[in-house]
Amino acid sequence: MGIILKNTILKGSRTDIRIDKGLFTEVSPHIEETEEDAVIDAEDNIIIPSLKNGHTHSAMTLLRGWGDDMKLKPWLEEKIWPMEAEIIRDPEASYWGTRFACLEMVKSGTTFANDMYFNLPQNIRAFRESGMKAALGTALFDFFDTEKTTEMKALCEKEFKTFEQNSMMQYTVAPHSVYTVSKELLSWAGDFSKAHNLPVHIHLCETREEVDKSFSSFGKSPVAYLKDLGLLSPHLIAAHTVWLSDDDIQMLADYGVTVVHNPVSNMKLSVGNVFPFDKMKTLHIPIMLGTDGAASNNNLDMFEEMKFAALLQKHHTGNPELMKAKEIFAIASGSESSIFPHISGEIKPGNHADCLLLNPDHSGLNPDHNTLSNIVYAAGSSCIDTVISGGAILMRHGKIDGEERIRTGFRKAVKKLFS
Ligand SMILES: [Zn+2]
Repeated sequence: MGIILKNTILKGSRTDIRIDKGLFTEVSPHIEETEEDAVIDAEDNIIIPSLKNGHTHSAMTLLRGWGDDMKLKPWLEEKIWPMEAEIIRDPEASYWGTRFACLEMVKSGTTFANDMYFNLPQNIRAFRESGMKAALGTALFDFFDTEKTTEMKALCEKEFKTFEQNSMMQYTVAPHSVYTVSKELLSWAGDFSKAHNLPVHIHLCETREEVDKSFSSFGKSPVAYLKDLGLLSPHLIAAHTVWLSDDDIQMLADYGVTVVHNPVSNMKLSVGNVFPFDKMKTLHIPIMLGTDGAASNNNLDMFEEMKFAALLQKHHTGNPELMKAKEIFAIASGSESSIFPHISGEIKPGNHADCLLLNPDHSGLNPDHNTLSNIVYAAGSSCIDTVISGGAILMRHGKIDGEERIRTGFRKAVKKLFS
């Protein structure tokens, strides 16, 4: 049995779309339904690919608003790390934080997240229940302590053994960064990724301090350091990547590394530099867009993220032609990188059925001179009517099953965590 979406508006034309076993199987002006098909009348709603969050820490919804308007170091040391130590000891809090994040993501049109955090089994449970797709890994830290290195390797091996990889879920190895993870653990993560064909998810060149420290400790940039450790490859997904030299950018291009742009988090934490989109685009580096965690954003809304990304590039470079609406939409919908095989960014037969129906009466979508411009610059996520992930309907007419229960569970978890 398949689903037929009748009367969608795809790129300006009325279109019927058949979805079967999680894929778009037919896209045509008219599809004849059979008795077994479930038919949904989309009533001239605009259909677009859903958005894919390339870098986040979902359970950080628990820490939204807990420390704002602070410098990075005191923010981490006084606010975030002490509370994360509490979260690690409270798996139920991780579950509710992630479950609540999934609710927020679905409501704002995101059907996939690349997540790095703690208490992995709870995060898997939350994503699975939500119907979203995910790439999940435990944030690996050893702080250069050999005992911790051994512990982290064992944890990763154990997690991978029991992780059920399928068309919805992908396991990742997620060493946090070059300044929190030893050379030994980084090399191991690279080898483990190669042996099992897994993505490696890392923070890279987020701050000037990180780059300066890399030069003083290793005599090279973080990118060159990862290259020497064998981590640069099409399996690497690197978040932030704002403090890069031209040589670094060339290396990322040569090895087919996917980079994730996190404009709101970068601006909020004042990292002092801007993602070099123009150079990356010239070298055809695969790019994704991400929100980072809700403690440094402070939401998970990819519609908002697209607008910030485009405006930041234009403002910073003085070039309004840079990062056009069409370009940032392609990046946000996941069509510019193929690191995750269970997502795709275009609505066509054979691609994954992850899409949104938008209310054409929403003020931000009118008049319709340029739908993609409206989506990026005007509409915001309140234009979303229906969300489909892996061929399943997660939200219809703005409603998600069990929403109230999730809100209540989340509030209780926050109360307990902060008591
Ligand atoms: Zn991050």
